[in-house]
Amino acid sequence: MNNPDAPDLATCADDYDPQSMTVAQAQSVIFRYLKPVDGTMWVPLRTALNRFLAEDVVSPMSVPPHINSAMDGYAVRFTDLSSTGETALTVSATVLAGAPSPPPLMPGQAIRIMTGAALPENADTVVMQEHSRREGDRVWLQPGQQSGQHVRQAGEDLHKGASALRRGQRLRAAELGLIASLGIGEVSVFRPLRVAFFSTGDELTSIGHSLTDGQIYDSNRYTLYGMLTGLGFECFDLGVVRDHPVAIENAFEEASRMADVVLTSGGVSVGEADFIKPLLARMGKVVFWKIAMKPGRPLAYGHLGQCHFFGLPGNPVAVMVTFYAFVRDALLTLAGANPLPVIPRLTVRTTTPLKKAPGRTEFQRGIVSQNAQGEWTVRSTGNQGSGILRSMSDANCFIVLPQDCGLVAAGSEVEVQLFEGLL
Ligand code: AMP
Ligand code: MG
Repeated sequence: MNNPDAPDLATCADDYDPQSMTVAQAQSVIFRYLKPVDGTMWVPLRTALNRFLAEDVVSPMSVPPHINSAMDGYAVRFTDLSSTGETALTVSATVLAGAPSPPPLMPGQAIRIMTGAALPENADTVVMQEHSRREGDRVWLQPGQQSGQHVRQAGEDLHKGASALRRGQRLRAAELGLIASLGIGEVSVFRPLRVAFFSTGDELTSIGHSLTDGQIYDSNRYTLYGMLTGLGFECFDLGVVRDHPVAIENAFEEASRMADVVLTSGGVSVGEADFIKPLLARMGKVVFWKIAMKPGRPLAYGHLGQCHFFGLPGNPVAVMVTFYAFVRDALLTLAGANPLPVIPRLTVRTTTPLKKAPGRTEFQRGIVSQNAQGEWTVRSTGNQGSGILRSMSDANCFIVLPQDCGLVAAGSEVEVQLFEGLL
């Protein structure tokens, strides 16, 4: 854990009940323990994609650096323009984007100017070429122009010395471009978060080996790999570990030596071969156990030495749901994200009824689509069994049904969380 001296916050909390926590309570307990990793590093801009800024980016210059035209047209002095009829001016020069400043504009003159070109001295207004008529070196400009129009002021986007991006900002395509526009080639980012994970279960076989009686292939390590890598974390896949206390203890030790976070799947219920909880209690600390959510109960959060530990359920859908409901935001916080990249929730009507009993927050799998009237609606993927990974693949959203809600009739409004993020 990053903050070993923190008091035992979970057990001090008034609302802490390890047997049954709401999703929101569990999230707030976890968040009391989180702070970003210590290490930072300077990296070239491209390498910084998907990482988090460790220091503000301060602009070394004004953007744009000079007053320039926002249109193709004519740079003029507004006082030269007639407000009632056309104005005829002499075109004294042409200035293209990237060219040095043209000669100063004299009364009665216009300068032909292109978008992005530096505004000539004395000019204060640009008339777009669609409002002009040209004959030789004379140009006639229509009346009705506004003073200062189509001019981009120096520093309009950003002033020299201003903070262009804040510490904690995730660097996506737009941010890489923004930093490049300041002429900056290297940035200080948090080092990648290190996450070690393994699957537990005597029934699990890794791909590449043939299945024997009673065995299934381990899929959780692949969904975890996908989710973790997609967020830019460094992954350590420790394979399948047998349902045996010594094997799990060894794996815990190995994982906690190499990583900031240890994730496991399976072995967190109360079955005879579920060893995670007692081992965690002995080797580290268990913060909570049962969450009022479906799928996903039980779920463990705790600490193994300096490491954060998340014990996810074994069922493949539950692994993904608990990851998105809890682990994602926690890991992003540890990786330095501030503010957290939000996944918006939208309200849409469901075209299918949704089975639900009050008592737990449910994350059902849904498909959002647009109907013939242009309205966005959602329908269920059907069977919501927590082992049916196909439902995650068919779905494009979670339908998030609150704890107290019961059966949902077709036509009701529900909240959905889309899987696909645009940026
Ligand atoms: P457990 O939480 O260990 O009781 O596992 C719950 C269910 O998830 C059982 O049906 C397991 O076989 C299944 N399961 C556990 N781990 C995995 C895994 N890594 N890949 C696929 N299924 C799993
Ligand atoms: Mg198991």
